[in-house]
Amino acid sequence: MSKSETLFAEAQKVIPGGVNSPVRAFRAVGGTPVFIERAEGAYLYDADEKRYIDYVQSWGPMVLGHAHPDVIDAVVEQAQSGLSFGAPTELETELAEELCRVWPNMDLVRFVNSGTEATMSAIRLARGYTGRDKIVKFEGCYHGHSDSLLVKAGSGALTMGVPSSPGVPASLADHTITLTYNDIEGVKKCFAEIGDQIACIIVEPVAGNMNCIPPIPGFLETLREVCDQSGAVLILDEVMTGFRVSLTGAQGHFDIDADITTLGKVIGGGMPVGAFGGKREIMEQIAPLGPVYQAGTLSGNPMAMVAGLETLQLIQEPNLYDELTAKTDRLVEGVLDAAKAADIPLTANKVGSMFGFFFTDADQVTNYQQVMACDTDRFNRFFHGMLEEGVYLAPASYEAGFMSAAHSDEDIEATIDAAKNVFAKLK
Ligand code: PMP
Repeated sequence: MSKSETLFAEAQKVIPGGVNSPVRAFRAVGGTPVFIERAEGAYLYDADEKRYIDYVQSWGPMVLGHAHPDVIDAVVEQAQSGLSFGAPTELETELAEELCRVWPNMDLVRFVNSGTEATMSAIRLARGYTGRDKIVKFEGCYHGHSDSLLVKAGSGALTMGVPSSPGVPASLADHTITLTYNDIEGVKKCFAEIGDQIACIIVEPVAGNMNCIPPIPGFLETLREVCDQSGAVLILDEVMTGFRVSLTGAQGHFDIDADITTLGKVIGGGMPVGAFGGKREIMEQIAPLGPVYQAGTLSGNPMAMVAGLETLQLIQEPNLYDELTAKTDRLVEGVLDAAKAADIPLTANKVGSMFGFFFTDADQVTNYQQVMACDTDRFNRFFHGMLEEGVYLAPASYEAGFMSAAHSDEDIEATIDAAKNVFAKLK
């Protein structure tokens, strides 16, 4: 029995499913989750000291790789001055200044403790600002687990949403409209019919929670257009893509103006953090300036602030993003070539250092239906084969992969070689 198996058995006695976030339980791929002991750079080490080249990178935050010495030093030094005060610190202003400097449409920003809090608060703000209740989201996008967002499409796009989890009141789900990602006509039709009732659109500008799905040309532009016409607020959820697909996220990459941007992951360098920020007129509605309530005992805590500040400084080194993109391209091309040589149908998407592989005959995968039609059984065998070879991929076929600055050319070559070995066994 491996140590991970023993630890998982113990964990299940006291934690539901043995995990504190469901995807970690390996339910999608089967088998026992790998329990991690430590991490460094591109690598994870499990409880049995086995090393893995890691393409999850804590689900995105570790653009620099794990345990970057400067980030760790900053956190250790701050810890000696106290972990949290529940009173303002200069560090919060410094990180806020940095975000407002980098993101052109961010006049004011509020820190929270998770991506879920960021999107939940952004939606409350959009509703408070517009005085409208309905929100629009897209099938396959994930924005955290707040009630309004755990909703799937009803029988018709414009009918009431249906809770996607027990515990979400149907009366609340009524206000959430779920449309198809990359369906420009669907968005136009929805806004033509009920645009004046819609408080906001929330969207992942590159979807990273149904594998990796970039926006088709014109999709994000249409969202901007219908929001301008109807008075709805455009929320770009860049919790995953912010400081990831480029320094200024997907909105910088695709040149789209957001009213509110939600951030997380990278801006805390691996510490729990989130943020929502945007145009002054909207952000001034938040308490204590305005009537829309939002708060947090540990929000803006100094540990998260210093980890974020140090990370943001380091990632602004010249060429870092170009190198990340080049490495991601090399990995994706290498794996696609290996699949082709083994006669395994495989397609990939990538934007910056985010990527995803699809076991499908389709040339292009652009929405949730297509993602769901991929060969999950083959992905699961690929996942376990790669794990055995010492490569840690996200444990579900609907998750994106992430490259870090710490991955070396040798790591990428080793990953491609591992894929070759696994593909040979997959047929
Ligand atoms: N938005 C997006 C785009 C996300 O990917 C996630 C989580 N991966 C969230 C929101 C929720 O963030 P958290 O898990 O920190 O609550």
